[in-house]
Amino acid sequence: MRMEETVAAVNLVYEGLDKQIATFQGATSLQCKIGCGKCCFKPDIEATVLEFIPFALHLYKQNMGNQWLDKLDSIESTMCLLLNPVREGSGLCTEYPYRGLICRLFGYSARTTKYAKRELVTCSVIKTEQTGAYAKTIVKIEAGLDVPVMNQYYMQLQSIDYNLTAKFYPINQAIKLAIETVMQYYTYENPTEPAHV
Ligand code: SF4
Repeated sequence: MRMEETVAAVNLVYEGLDKQIATFQGATSLQCKIGCGKCCFKPDIEATVLEFIPFALHLYKQNMGNQWLDKLDSIESTMCLLLNPVREGSGLCTEYPYRGLICRLFGYSARTTKYAKRELVTCSVIKTEQTGAYAKTIVKIEAGLDVPVMNQYYMQLQSIDYNLTAKFYPINQAIKLAIETVMQYYTYENPTEPAHV
């Protein structure tokens, strides 16, 4: 698959998920707290490389790949490099449109237990500050409310590119590998193929 086609396929999965989450939020009234970003402070967030290929292509087209690789090589913290803890406004993610699958799923999706039960995966802020809506949501999910299921979305990404989804990495490493993958693709594998700006 050509890089642009891979990115288009990943974005299609993201669009489908964003729509399903919007419907779920409408049915449950669960919402992120304005300006929160608490979930992004977790030091051990993991992601696959494919999740950040759209971001990596965006950087490549801006000729910013090397600059970001330098940044990623210079940091010691495992906290996501895209997080700006002091950012004003609605959210702390500096590249929100290019956030990964894990970022989109967290808060509004379920994992499947060994008894095939769907268990909502959400944050402590929602659990403690939206207690009524949270409790009702658990009941609604047990009663069959449609909720995005994490492993189903990861399987959709796997069907696009198995190698780039086979392993989870600390989020900054996943971003770094995604940038390297895109740069390698255009520099060595397909030097004559233009990346359409
Ligand atoms: S990519 Fe954005 S949303 Fe995802 S962990 Fe980093 S700061 Fe948070």
